Amino acid sequence: MTNPQQPKNLNKTRDDLEQDQFLTILSREEALARFEAALFPRPVPAEQRPLADALGCALAEDIVAPIDVPPFDRSNVDGFAVRSADLSSSGEATPVRLMLNDEAIACGIAPARPVLSGTATSIATGGPVPRGADAIVMVEHTQPVSARAIEIRRAASPGQFVSYAGSDIARGENLLRAGTVIGSREIGMLAACGIAVVSVARRPRVAVISTGDELVQPGNELRPAAIYDTNGAIVTAAVSENGGDAVFLGAIADDEAKLEAAMRGALESSDMLVLSGGTSKGAGDLSHRIIARLGKPGIIAHGVALKPGKPLCLAVCDGKPVVILPGFPTSAMFTFHDMIVPVLRRMAGLPPRSDAKVFARVPVRIASELGRTEFVMVSLVEGDGGLIAYPSGKGSGAITSFAQADGFLKIDALADQMPAGTDAEVTLFTPHVRVPDLVIVGSHCTGLDLVTAPLARAGLVVRSIAVGSLGGLAAARRGECDFAPIHLFDEKTESYNTPYVADGLELVPGWRRMQGIVFRSGDARFEGLSAQDAVRSALADPTCIMVNRNQGAGTRILIDRLLGDIRPDGYWNQPRSHNAVAAAVAQGRADWGMTIAPVAHAAGLGFIPFAEEHYDFALVTARKQRLAVQAFLAALASDEGRAALERAGFRPA
Ligand code: AMP
Ligand code: MG
Repeated sequence: MTNPQQPKNLNKTRDDLEQDQFLTILSREEALARFEAALFPRPVPAEQRPLADALGCALAEDIVAPIDVPPFDRSNVDGFAVRSADLSSSGEATPVRLMLNDEAIACGIAPARPVLSGTATSIATGGPVPRGADAIVMVEHTQPVSARAIEIRRAASPGQFVSYAGSDIARGENLLRAGTVIGSREIGMLAACGIAVVSVARRPRVAVISTGDELVQPGNELRPAAIYDTNGAIVTAAVSENGGDAVFLGAIADDEAKLEAAMRGALESSDMLVLSGGTSKGAGDLSHRIIARLGKPGIIAHGVALKPGKPLCLAVCDGKPVVILPGFPTSAMFTFHDMIVPVLRRMAGLPPRSDAKVFARVPVRIASELGRTEFVMVSLVEGDGGLIAYPSGKGSGAITSFAQADGFLKIDALADQMPAGTDAEVTLFTPHVRVPDLVIVGSHCTGLDLVTAPLARAGLVVRSIAVGSLGGLAAARRGECDFAPIHLFDEKTESYNTPYVADGLELVPGWRRMQGIVFRSGDARFEGLSAQDAVRSALADPTCIMVNRNQGAGTRILIDRLLGDIRPDGYWNQPRSHNAVAAAVAQGRADWGMTIAPVAHAAGLGFIPFAEEHYDFALVTARKQRLAVQAFLAALASDEGRAALERAGFRPA
């Protein structure tokens, strides 16, 4: 008997199934230790590079200075080379007269005559000190008496204004250590020693392959149900950032033969292979099965107690690392940086990464899965008592959290949460903390970006953290932001926002957003009707499907008002954003829903206005005089700001 609901892999053999389970989930530390043990020690292959091409490379060996720098005793000033003993009695009232030798030592001129007692030789900055002389007197401290003599009215100490041979770099001295990354300063030192070619670690060649039938390369049109290949670009860039020579081989479909051919080809021509996707246990997930055929010892770890990143697969095939990163881009990025970068840098002869770290207070409790090391991206803001780290993740499928985050914190595998108020160590994505000038925490609206645009152009860093209206109000009360955008309807007073503004906060009017029914243009069930009639018409058609909104959303309150107790088909589909509602209707997953006018229009949908929502700002009064806050208020009130809002379909208050 066949059951149409049966998943495909049920007709596999028991052996297959057993092989397909994560045999053992290793801890992060154990997985990394086993991976490194299978790869190291190994020699770092070196290559010779001309100095000009060596920028950013790691030195393969220590460099010993082949010469002294400077190569001779050198004058540091324009003046006269003298014997200091001649000037021992020299003073304001007792000038000493010295006869000039018949030579002037310029840069690049080797002196021909010695400086005998009672004589001096004219010398330029950089000129070699002549025999006999042991000090230089600056030209400003001498008076000419004739064409052939000078007078000096001060003593000179031995060695004055002389740089001795080897005083900068001494021949035989260890100049630079193996592993040093060559920057402009190192290039300068090497050039000063006359070194034109250096032995540097050869960048490991790293082949990058994305896997998945659904992947389309950026630049091409997205077909229905397809997504852009994000990991290919991320991994290629991250390999380059960490000393590898990345070769992106494109996205390969989930086809075992094609994938195996691509993997074999990649391994032949590279030192390392990084794949992404297809590492879970789905029927289409093939890469890990192919690895077993590619070389010994094969898979080292498949399943690591990381979050995000559990399906990570680490393998070594005949000495070459082969890695399958999880498909979700954020998971791919974290696992790459945490587990692959250490290995890549060692292969590239580079020292371990030294990411900057800071401590910051976590204002909210962060739940965590027991047994997995969890990475949580955070945005940093300046609070009254120091830095505050807001968790900013949107889940492992989200890519934008990386751009909005300043760094991440780690929650130990043995912890099931990080309590609110924890002073946590944050690893920064950038070398230094750059605390934003304006911090907005609350409900997000695309109109916000229009108003803050001039601030960004003026060089002010604006950070907007979307936590919803209520979360924003709480942050504002704790003094963690400058203001909280809110759109909260109070049933009792039938008014927006004002009843929610607590002590220490004041309400700044923002703009109005028209909420209404969206449908595909031309749908006769909705076209030309009022909102109430449109809903009535939808309810009258049993094939009609709606898309709802999440509990707590301002939009949901409006939908509930229209529907009363009725629960039509689609009611339980409750996405969390205006855009998701529009996408569901545009793609035919639903026939109607409620969203704001600008989003409906951007998606090319029909729109029936229903109610205007007030989007305002709860401003922290104590922060009102700050420069960035004033700049925001000015932008909000400006003609340009209002015009930009109107063009986008908002109505400034
Ligand atoms: P998989 O492990 O192949 O099942 O992939 C898990 C999720 O990550 C799926 O939603 C994939 O569409 C997504 N994914 C896989 N590879 C990529 C990629 N290169 N770029 C963006 N998303 C990806
Ligand atoms: Mg896949």
